Amino acid sequence: MPIAKAYSATSSTSGLHAATIERREPTPTDVEIKILYCGVCHSDLHQARNEWKDFMPTMYPCVPGHEIVGRVTRVGSAVTRFKAGDIAAVGCLVDSCHECEACKSSDEMYCAKGAAFTYNSPDPYTGKHTWGGYSESIVVNETFALKVPEGLDPAGAAPLLCAGITTYSPLRHWNVQAGQKVGVVGLGGLGHMAVKLAAAMGAEVVLFTTSANKVEDGKRLGATSVVISKDPEQMKPHTGSFDFILDTVSAEHDINGYIQLLKRNGTMCLVGVPEKPLPIMSIGLIFGRKQLAGSLIGGTAETQEMLDFCGKHGIVSDIELIPIQKINEAYDRLTKSDVKYRFVIDMASLAAD
Ligand SMILES: [Zn+2]
Ligand SMILES: [Zn+2]
Repeated sequence: MPIAKAYSATSSTSGLHAATIERREPTPTDVEIKILYCGVCHSDLHQARNEWKDFMPTMYPCVPGHEIVGRVTRVGSAVTRFKAGDIAAVGCLVDSCHECEACKSSDEMYCAKGAAFTYNSPDPYTGKHTWGGYSESIVVNETFALKVPEGLDPAGAAPLLCAGITTYSPLRHWNVQAGQKVGVVGLGGLGHMAVKLAAAMGAEVVLFTTSANKVEDGKRLGATSVVISKDPEQMKPHTGSFDFILDTVSAEHDINGYIQLLKRNGTMCLVGVPEKPLPIMSIGLIFGRKQLAGSLIGGTAETQEMLDFCGKHGIVSDIELIPIQKINEAYDRLTKSDVKYRFVIDMASLAAD
């Protein structure tokens, strides 16, 4: 088994430390990738610290990271889409059953038998659990390796693999297009991608934020206007006017005010994960036949479609590149939303350990 350098958490309070992990020998259908860049998603922090113990307990040692861009080093004999030297990406999924209805429609994230996520999932190959991108290399089934369009900065492209697809998938599923009015709630890692993507789809984008200091940035990223959501006077003029609202906020917040802003038949989709249940006034949905929905990442075909869309429109994430030795500091800053708008680890820094 090839040994790879990595950073892992050994308990909920250990923080991340240098370690080594085993990667499997590539099977005939596998692609082996040397990781160049890995984005830092809020989920990485939740998982490393076992903050989702009630519904997704952490299996230690935990190697987070599911926004991976790297260079192909070896391919199995049956691999057709990649060769050594190619730039390739891996997102939140590394395997699924390939047979159920969801997998057959390339909605692998909803696999009936449970998809294998890039970290913290049972590993069907080793009997252990999966380890993510805070490491030197990764080996995945070819189906779950993606092509990064030429011309996209590989470091800035890394966050597209989670933050990008998490926001692209609902925008596409609810058919956002030119001429529509789309709201984005929250300007963090997910929100800043949602603003860029919805604007590139031709929609009029309104950003909702609680921070007055994010107004300029929201406009720079592509929002037509920015509304301070705490101010009822700013919210009111938008009543009944949105085709679609994408809510990216994971903190506790009132969603009823946003439901009021939807048009008849409009949809509000949640992609943030607040800890506690959100109270909903059903009357807000009833008047206007409005829909409240959720969406989880995206499948392999749609993730490739998203990457190609970003290639065409020159969209990458706004990032702060860090060496892996700064990962614990980055986590602390992430809890304070002190990043514009995604940390990306330069994996070349692993050589220093
Ligand atoms: Zn993520
Ligand atoms: Zn399946």
